[in-house]
Amino acid sequence: MGYVDEVFEMVVKKNPAEPEFHQAVKEVLESLRPIIDQNEARYRKEALLERLVEPDRQIKFRVPWVDDKGQVQVNTGYRVQFNNAIGPYKGGLRLHPSVNIGIIKFLGFEQIFKNSLTSLPIGGGKGGSDFDPKGKSDREIMAFCQSFMNELYKYIGADVDVPAGDIGTGAREIGYMFGQYKKIRGVYEGVLTGKGLSYGGSLARTEATGYGLLYLTDEMLRCNGHALAGKTVAVSGAGNVAIYACQKAQQLGAKVVTVSDSNGWIYDPEGIDVALLKEVKEVKRERLTSYAAARKSAEYHEGKGVWSVKCDVALPCATQNELTIDDAKALVANGVIAVAEGANMPTTLEATQYLLDNGVLFAPGKAANAGGVATSALEMSQNSERLSWSFEEVDQKLKQIMVNIFHNMDDAAKRYGAEGNYVVGANIAGFEKVADAMLAQGVC
Ligand code: GLU
Repeated sequence: MGYVDEVFEMVVKKNPAEPEFHQAVKEVLESLRPIIDQNEARYRKEALLERLVEPDRQIKFRVPWVDDKGQVQVNTGYRVQFNNAIGPYKGGLRLHPSVNIGIIKFLGFEQIFKNSLTSLPIGGGKGGSDFDPKGKSDREIMAFCQSFMNELYKYIGADVDVPAGDIGTGAREIGYMFGQYKKIRGVYEGVLTGKGLSYGGSLARTEATGYGLLYLTDEMLRCNGHALAGKTVAVSGAGNVAIYACQKAQQLGAKVVTVSDSNGWIYDPEGIDVALLKEVKEVKRERLTSYAAARKSAEYHEGKGVWSVKCDVALPCATQNELTIDDAKALVANGVIAVAEGANMPTTLEATQYLLDNGVLFAPGKAANAGGVATSALEMSQNSERLSWSFEEVDQKLKQIMVNIFHNMDDAAKRYGAEGNYVVGANIAGFEKVADAMLAQGVC
């Protein structure tokens, strides 16, 4: 059995009942085959892959908090510090009932390569809780966040591990967590990113993941003889990534016709009204039914269905495994040119292969959605120098980073005989730097 297969088999055996983690490892290891084949003897002797798939540490803790009725609730908190070969652990905190250790490990593993691709000095980590923020009062959210930080503070720090937002964790949650960290530690430092602008946050961080997704998609289309302007775009999700993906797509001259949430989806042939979407989701924190009620041109449909709409570009910005083989077939049948992942691992392995086999340009999440964490790293830089940069300066840097990511993955794919396969390109480009740093730092 080859090295890749042996390591994958070991991962499945050692981490039972963690299908998302297996999936993320499989995708990465499969696409690293060309580089591993060339270096197999050295990597085997150094147990490089075995070290790469084993987190540095996994922290799991109890999060008790009191709800508005006076009832004590208990959730589970996680932080997986996966790899700090190239910088402090960096990655978001997901608050969602689906969170378990396998989900956090898949996200943390992806984060290693994503963060490396940004070319900034950040390692990979991820955390979160099975807490469901939906329907909770502000006071309940604060109670949870403070309790979460009462344990997490022991393991993080500006040069150690810097958490941020993810699904369910936005500016409000980061604010409560930052306040509690400061109170416990008595230290004012950039220990979290995605902070509010009045206390160390970076301009353009809110927009960064969605904007970055479009900068990379635009470059990918351009380099393959297409243009984003004039294209019809389908977006899934209605959270932070989706909202700013819609906004930037429209600024670049495309028409976005869909968004979705966990209950249903919108088809708006006139183009999504981003101001209304922001009002519904960011201000009122309501469902998409409120969007449909306020806009004549919008159709609301229950359940899933975004990928059945005819589009040139598909941007899955909701959650893992939301784009299945049937969705991929529908997209191809409708003539899709490009799929770029705004969420983490939204496309199943089977669907990804189908899209690649059918000549669809496919930008994997670890490249396409890296703009969020890249801008988090820019926030860390600003915190370290105790300065804040203008929106234009951050946005300009973000754009350059995304364009560079595209070219780095494009080059890596070409170097290893897989031209146009950006899954292979992104994984190899992300891996090269981490592998080099791990080997240089010895057995640790
Ligand atoms: N949660 C985001 C991601 O998946 C951002 C992480 C960060 O800014 O640290 O990359």
